[in-house]
Amino acid sequence: MHMRHGWMAALLVYGVATGTAHAQTGANDLGARLMQDAAVRAAVEAAKADEAQTIEDQVRVCEVPAPPFKEAERAKLVAGMFRDIGLANVRIDNVGNVLGDRPGAAERPRLVFAGHLDTVFPEGTNVKTTREGTVIKGPGIGDDCRGLAVVLAVARAMNRAHVQTPGTITFVANVGEEGLGDLRGVKYLFNDSMKGQIDRFVSVDGTGLGITHIAVGSFRYKVTYKGPGGHSYGAFGLANPIHALGRAIAKISDFQVPREPKTTFNVGRIGGGTSVNSIAFEAWMEVDMRSADPASLQSVDANFNKAVEQALVEENERWNNSGRLTMDKQVVGTRPAGRTAADAAIVQAAVSATKALNLPVTLDEGSTDSNIPMSLGIPAITIDGGGRGMGAHSLGEAFDSTDSWKGTERAVLIAIALAQK
Ligand SMILES: [Zn+2]
Repeated sequence: MHMRHGWMAALLVYGVATGTAHAQTGANDLGARLMQDAAVRAAVEAAKADEAQTIEDQVRVCEVPAPPFKEAERAKLVAGMFRDIGLANVRIDNVGNVLGDRPGAAERPRLVFAGHLDTVFPEGTNVKTTREGTVIKGPGIGDDCRGLAVVLAVARAMNRAHVQTPGTITFVANVGEEGLGDLRGVKYLFNDSMKGQIDRFVSVDGTGLGITHIAVGSFRYKVTYKGPGGHSYGAFGLANPIHALGRAIAKISDFQVPREPKTTFNVGRIGGGTSVNSIAFEAWMEVDMRSADPASLQSVDANFNKAVEQALVEENERWNNSGRLTMDKQVVGTRPAGRTAADAAIVQAAVSATKALNLPVTLDEGSTDSNIPMSLGIPAITIDGGGRGMGAHSLGEAFDSTDSWKGTERAVLIAIALAQK
């Protein structure tokens, strides 16, 4: 799931068009050159011809629940589909990612082409889909059942057209993209199971035709103030966890952050207390901070850590209660910021594929599985899977499949382009 920033996209597209006209002509026409190849063209055409199957897959995958940390059932289904398509060495790794290889002439370069299995919806959510004309409704239908269906479609189209590539593609359906999943699936790929073996990474996430190359990073915390608590009248004079929390929130509310690079902070949830006539024994908050710029993210994070410590000290000092209140600070999410430069070969390959198919080029920023490779300096992008999405992360999520084959076609051409030397 990621956000759009139209003005920034326009700016960046302009930059690509003007800044690279001379330097990158090779990468700039890669998509068009590949389309001269009969097998590549056949694969792209197969993607369009098989779009009905792709949408059927999208629904099939989506009707198997994949709540946070419980993706196993959907993983099993996708592993079977990988095998049916003919991928090699289909396996499920220790965190639950599904992997399947499509060997090229050589093992390297290796492209990982991924979609995420998990949804934001809790266990027990009704995941049955309904259709009305071109619109399919169902939780997760766009984010990211569309991505999974496109990953499957790319593998199938390439096999059907017998496309041979110099490099190898590992197709992946990964766990843990959403929320508290904290990118654990992709973290495991890059830090463990495929460490040092991934040269390029593409995540297909969501709907539309954007190309995300800037990773908005985030730090998330749950902070809990604790104290002995007591009667509001009888124990008056005790440091109060809710008052400490209030002090912390007041400090956070006054943070100054740069508008560019956009840097944000938010106290998203608060809780605690016993009753109106009790000094609370506990109060907590959940805080989210974001920026696409690692230094700005570090800076707002440092301010946050100082603020919650100071609030604790001030509340204890206010009542001469030194040490009676304590604070527990828990990191509940870390998504590193990063970027793949707009003129990097992987972005240019995606742009050239988009142009070769006469589709509009939109460069985006967002928070996706690509945050991990981008923060490691490994070329990565997240692409949309086509079609039009509505109400992502809501129970009313819907997907309009009108012309969605355009996204599938483009994904095929991008995958082939990135499996070249
Ligand atoms: Zn997503």
